Amino acid sequence: MAEYKSKWVGLDCGPLPHESTPSLIGRFSSLNGIDRRALREQLGFWMNASTDTFARGFGFREDLITHETGWQLPGDEKTVLTSRPVLVPWLFASRVRFCPTCLESGFHSFWFQLESVQTCPLHTTPIADKCQCCGQLAGGYSDLPGKASAFYACEACGRPLGGRAFSWSAHDILRSRAKQIDEAFGSLRAWWCDSNSGLDIVEQLVVQNTLVTWYVWCDARDFLRRATTELAPMPQQFADAHAQGQITLLQWNIRLTSSRWRDTDSSRGRLPYSSVGQALYASMLSRLCAWAFPDGAGARCAGDMLALREKGFIDGTNREANQLALAWFRLLFEDASSTPFEWINTRRATWSGRLRARHIGAHVQRLPARAILLGVFAVMLEITKRQQASGEAFHLDGLRPTIPSLVPLVYQPGYPSPAGDERSQGLVMFPSIHNLNLDTVWPSMRHLK
Ligand SMILES: [Zn+2]
Ligand SMILES: [Zn+2]
Repeated sequence: MAEYKSKWVGLDCGPLPHESTPSLIGRFSSLNGIDRRALREQLGFWMNASTDTFARGFGFREDLITHETGWQLPGDEKTVLTSRPVLVPWLFASRVRFCPTCLESGFHSFWFQLESVQTCPLHTTPIADKCQCCGQLAGGYSDLPGKASAFYACEACGRPLGGRAFSWSAHDILRSRAKQIDEAFGSLRAWWCDSNSGLDIVEQLVVQNTLVTWYVWCDARDFLRRATTELAPMPQQFADAHAQGQITLLQWNIRLTSSRWRDTDSSRGRLPYSSVGQALYASMLSRLCAWAFPDGAGARCAGDMLALREKGFIDGTNREANQLALAWFRLLFEDASSTPFEWINTRRATWSGRLRARHIGAHVQRLPARAILLGVFAVMLEITKRQQASGEAFHLDGLRPTIPSLVPLVYQPGYPSPAGDERSQGLVMFPSIHNLNLDTVWPSMRHLK
């Protein structure tokens, strides 16, 4: 056995803590001067440049690697990448992200692929995704081991991706700090493994929504990263300053089967179940109107609605997005048969009774109904702002009826809780509405700004 292994050199350069397998194999192939074909044949290691996700971009035969090298691969990478297959493609980058200093030392951690990680915990260097020589975006994972002779080389310019060539002496120094490496990344591992309830909810966001349709109002990956920051905060050292704030999270947890209803949105004794009623809609709407039209210009809102209904657009120049979005929102939800005159008094706005949100049946509890309506408005406001920024007239487009289904929503309408009662749980997340005091429209069970 020992004799067989001796055909390889560098067997003392085995896996480092939290190291990605492509990093380990790249170093090995560089040292032994073997190409990809040999890697596949001898170690069962393959890469696929065309795949969209990091986790699916490579594979290997662990038994072959152990047989050839004597290395036992630490299970962390596998545990992390396979534990949440729904979430990993959204949170982990498919392009190589790296710390230039680590790369010079021949080390790459799979944690660098997690887009929320902005700096290397070993060197406090910003994580890069562009070649430090030519500025081209780094390629997919299959580029990492390079072409045998050029370990970690840029696919575009052929020079070192990290700016400086891989140095064995730097690698030796890094290897002597293996314990520090383990500690530096250890809090990430703990976060991933221990944030079960938070990451479960983020996973539900992916499962219950069609994220690819969100492109009309946000970058879904970016949004999900912010959602993760809210629901499963990362260790302090990795806190992603860019992802904080800017998102509002409305959560509810209502008991459904108790003799005394505990819906905080209702006075005691009233059933939490109700279709979104006239009263709920009108009360919410008049508060939104008071906020968007502080001068009480209800007639102006009706005028905007009329223009939108008759012409399909409004010249958005010098108009406030809040007001335009509100007119649009009302057209979506108010009975098409109501007259412009009836639009003027918002307290008597006529609810069409149609919510058309995902997973929502005819009966939705009042609290989630409020949250969903607010989310719908926030998403419409975001689309309005985007239209204004692009300089076009504000117009209705084909997505109008589907807008409620574009709202990030996790909805569990009724399920037994460990306490034996039946509950409705869920949350809605949306871009924070600037200047709107949520307390006026949401009876806070919990909301984070
Ligand atoms: Zn580093
Ligand atoms: Zn380059």
